[in-house]
Amino acid sequence: MIYLDYNASTPVDARVASLVQEASHAYANPSSTQHRAGQQAAELVEHARQRLATAVHRTPREIVFTAGASEAAAIGIIGAMLGDSRRPNVVIGATEHKAIIQAAEAGARLGGGEVRIASVDHSGLLDLSRLNELVDDSVSVVAVMAANNETGVMGPVEQASVIAHSRGALFFSDITQLLGKGDTTDVSTHADLMVCSSHKLYGPKGAGALIASRHTQKALFPILGGGGQEFGLRGGTSNAPALTGFGLAAELATQCLPETMNRLTVLRDQLWHGLQELGSVEINGGDAPRVCNTLNVRIAGADAEAVMASMPDVAVSSGSACQSAVPTPSHVLLAMGRSTTEAGESLRLSIGTPTTESDIRASIAKLSAAALRVRELTGDLERFLDDA
Ligand code: PLP
Repeated sequence: MIYLDYNASTPVDARVASLVQEASHAYANPSSTQHRAGQQAAELVEHARQRLATAVHRTPREIVFTAGASEAAAIGIIGAMLGDSRRPNVVIGATEHKAIIQAAEAGARLGGGEVRIASVDHSGLLDLSRLNELVDDSVSVVAVMAANNETGVMGPVEQASVIAHSRGALFFSDITQLLGKGDTTDVSTHADLMVCSSHKLYGPKGAGALIASRHTQKALFPILGGGGQEFGLRGGTSNAPALTGFGLAAELATQCLPETMNRLTVLRDQLWHGLQELGSVEINGGDAPRVCNTLNVRIAGADAEAVMASMPDVAVSSGSACQSAVPTPSHVLLAMGRSTTEAGESLRLSIGTPTTESDIRASIAKLSAAALRVRELTGDLERFLDDA
């Protein structure tokens, strides 16, 4: 199996897996700090908080641990929308992840507001003048992702944050696909709220974080307050082993970031170079700055689902993983002006640190063979229908 679906999820790093295994012995509730067993579990969580804080250039008090980025987005976006009744509206980019779109829709429904969508251009870059028109003093939060999960296109976070702040709105940025693959210093400087996820950076599943200053945390309505854990924003017993793994994974991912970025950029470009031999191929988002590991290609005349079906030993995605179960065209590619057919001919290839040059060579061969087969069959079918 050649795995080129690292944007959907990543394997757990061996060092992280052994730490999670070790931490799973600390079974006490980290909130039970009256006894030593509880204190030990709490220490593990606090150490992980410190590690993640360093990785995202923040302080530990700014890390609110959650079960993943989707949960963190709901706490942050709905919390911000319900936190200020004079500002019931939200503005989001058209290519945001469904977790952000649905949180915005839920917040609007609960608070009686509306979701305003800022369009993107053909390369997936946010239209800043449209954003400027949409943000007014009825908007509590503006969400613009740092890196898109389908195309890898990186958002203009600094300019978007200036627009949000000029109208008194909070600026939210999803760094799930940037952390471990690009520098988060800039977004961390400009965003009031950020979300990220452990399983995208070689950590265990079921761990994520909302990142916000103490001041911003106080502005959020606590939709999941529960027993008061995580500074009153995410009630529920902390998953100490998973969070421990998340902390280490974030530390490792950011420690070797320059090497990772250089290596993956070279491999991704080799992949693109090899696929160009097919002819009539193009990169979705090719004109925009992109994260180092993502290549979203449209192969004209080759339906992506058919290509995937004819190379079952190559793991790629025809949209975002969350959408794959639903056969609807990618909202990201449609927002970029792709037709339904063009979106249906697009494949997301996302590489990761375990990817080798030989994986790239083999995937070029397999993908090209599969695409040519599909093009041929499509041609045969069209000729047959013409003759009939
Ligand atoms: N945001 C982006 C950009 C993602 O790629 C994903 C995962 O697909 C999420 C949010 C949701 O992450 P999680 O699986 O941790 O809920």
